[in-house]
Amino acid sequence: MLKIPFVSFEKMHTEIRNELDEAYNNVLNKNYYIHGSECAEFEKNFAEYCTAKYCVGVGNGLDALTLILRAMNIRCGDEVIVPANTYIATALAVSLAGATPVLVDPDIRTFNIDVDKIEEKITDRTKAIIAVHLQGRAADMDSICAVAKKYNLKVIEDAAQAHGTRYKGKKVGTFGQAAGFSFYPGKNLGALGDGGCVVTNDEKIAETVRILSDYGSDYKYHHIFKGVNSRLDELQSAFLNVKLPYLDKWNAERQRIADCYLQHITNPAIVLPLQSDDEFEHIYHVFAIRCRQRDRLESYLKEKGIGTLKHYPVPIHLQQAYADLNIPKGSLPVAEEISHTILSIPMYYGMTDKEIDFVIQSLNDFSCE
Ligand SMILES: *Cc1c(COP(=O)(O)O)cnc(C)c1O
Repeated sequence: MLKIPFVSFEKMHTEIRNELDEAYNNVLNKNYYIHGSECAEFEKNFAEYCTAKYCVGVGNGLDALTLILRAMNIRCGDEVIVPANTYIATALAVSLAGATPVLVDPDIRTFNIDVDKIEEKITDRTKAIIAVHLQGRAADMDSICAVAKKYNLKVIEDAAQAHGTRYKGKKVGTFGQAAGFSFYPGKNLGALGDGGCVVTNDEKIAETVRILSDYGSDYKYHHIFKGVNSRLDELQSAFLNVKLPYLDKWNAERQRIADCYLQHITNPAIVLPLQSDDEFEHIYHVFAIRCRQRDRLESYLKEKGIGTLKHYPVPIHLQQAYADLNIPKGSLPVAEEISHTILSIPMYYGMTDKEIDFVIQSLNDFSCE
């Protein structure tokens, strides 16, 4: 039986195995592991890739967002607008900075924040909006920035799922004042462990994030903030330097697989995601379908040997960790609807045509009754 995992790095890493080995050996030969030339090189490369002035490597995507908020002096008593439909890290970053996340329901077609619902959540405590390019689809940055401008709010991009995504032809990461990226292995650009970075055109934010991420130290043993330890190490930076030049090719392959899915999945019980287009590019970090009979579809695919995941089965406001927000069930109906119906199907560089066809055929053969 054909077994198709939800995600596999096998082909990706086999093709560049020699380069990864070489990167590892280089770091070991240099015997230098934190804040060396590999990290500096990656920061330069990734800033250039995003057409941003600055990139600061940090330990992971959650820290990237948290440190941006801290660098903006967002803190206890402040509110930050966050999409209700996102990975919990977006909200946790706000909480870790000491502020309160204010959740806004998504648009069911894009899964991204419903821009028309932002204004009603703005109060005199609101300081910023975090725009998430969920699943790899660009959020509506013009509209988000217009609301932010009207109320004098900062805009932060959570680009953890959107390395290389373009909005109106320009890569995400510089539409707001700063953006956080994650290099968790499963992201479109993944390290071989944890990693993240902050991208910005604002020198002050870049400098403050750098200091905060290194124990609040501006020079050795001199501490100006109560910082954290969150650094992108030399080994992960070296691997990322190898992988970055392939990112566009890997994203293009994801788009090709997505086009196959979009063209050939014809089961009327399945709602397909919106296609990537010139304004709102989609790099398919996940390819998420919706189905009324989601749980049945999930077990049906499992029996067929097809791996799936739910992004995400429980929305943030219904998580125990956020019971203190006191947002009752039913208050964010679109996020809740998505959590009940969404299912992500296999999507990774290296899927064979046979595997893609098998996923399509299996979905088309699924019967609701
Ligand atoms: C992965 C992810 C993060 C957090 O990144 P980590 O590197 O796992 O800390 C933040 N936001 C979104 C939308 C993510 O998908």
